[in-house]
Amino acid sequence: MYLSIWLGILMGSASCSTSDKKPSSPVPDTAVLQDNPLARRLNKPSTMPTTPPAGARISYSQVNITQPVVAMTFDDGPHPSLTPKLLDILKERNIKCTFFLIGQNVKAYPKIVQRIIAEGHEIGNHTYTHCSLTSRSDDQIRSELKQSEAALMAAANYRPQLIRPPYGAINTRVKQLMFSEFGYSTIMWSVDPQDWRRPGVSVVTSRLVNGARPGSIMLAHDIHPPTIQAVPAMFDQLIAKGYQFVTVSQLMNMEKASMPVGVVIRPAVPMGDKDPKPLPQ
Ligand SMILES: [Zn+2]
Repeated sequence: MYLSIWLGILMGSASCSTSDKKPSSPVPDTAVLQDNPLARRLNKPSTMPTTPPAGARISYSQVNITQPVVAMTFDDGPHPSLTPKLLDILKERNIKCTFFLIGQNVKAYPKIVQRIIAEGHEIGNHTYTHCSLTSRSDDQIRSELKQSEAALMAAANYRPQLIRPPYGAINTRVKQLMFSEFGYSTIMWSVDPQDWRRPGVSVVTSRLVNGARPGSIMLAHDIHPPTIQAVPAMFDQLIAKGYQFVTVSQLMNMEKASMPVGVVIRPAVPMGDKDPKPLPQ
């Protein structure tokens, strides 16, 4: 039942659409729209919430759903020219993504941050200086995350709910600290095209397309020109296969909504609490 509700919402009517530009030519008839996955998306944008559910897990590399829905994520921006180019590509397709931004770049390019938010995308914390958190003390981690949060608040009055650790460097200590003190779920990935190695535009496209599965969290970086060249074909090929793109929090919400009624989602146990009381079954 919950599944059908969420699917209904996902496929539901327009709200905060980025497709506010009216086409100059007459609107095609319904039959044409139904034959064209991209046209269907433009007319039925997502209305799912953009905040994670109360029972969010401490970390994710993918979510457990059966529908062909994925979250595309872009790290290390905003980049002064490539991120706006990417935003144009997303806007043309009414696709919502998640951007894990470096605090220093947020401070340098606040207008791009505001545009990311205005166009319905999600933003996650990617630290202030893009440091490896596992080699930092608890206090250094707190400082990195707080500085990055402060930059987002100053740029756009936005408080992120998610963190992606730079270089994927993570351990239990860091995860627990970020979850219990900041409320952050750690977001890893299940599809990595290694675009930072610049393997070639078509390779990045095919690695993403071939890696996608229901519930995948896919990784790329919007600071490399070949990545920006690779993503339009990737989006169009996956849309043609029937995939929908949502933000990471939307994907997390889908997983929660698809759980059988009565499942208890246990919160993470804070460090030092060795004897948690059992939850009622
Ligand atoms: Zn990074």
